[in-house]
Amino acid sequence: MEVVKCSRCGAFYSNTGYVCPKCTDKDNFEFSTFKSYIEENRADIPSLNQISIYTGITEKNLNRFLNYDGLGEYKKLFK
Ligand SMILES: [Zn+2]
Repeated sequence: MEVVKCSRCGAFYSNTGYVCPKCTDKDNFEFSTFKSYIEENRADIPSLNQISIYTGITEKNLNRFLNYDGLGEYKKLFK
């Protein structure tokens, strides 16, 4: 079984997923906040820094979300 380090809290875990089980709920919540924020501001996409200020999600986590499955299209918006 592969053990990976949670990118949110640094704990080690062995399940599949982007973060450890303890952080999954918060991660999913922030991920959907981020997605809906982009959808609402599609006409004028703010910078990751601005999104971080408005949503309270750290830029580190926003950058992580851009590498999640299904966000390839969003990733292009910030290049
Ligand atoms: Zn964690």
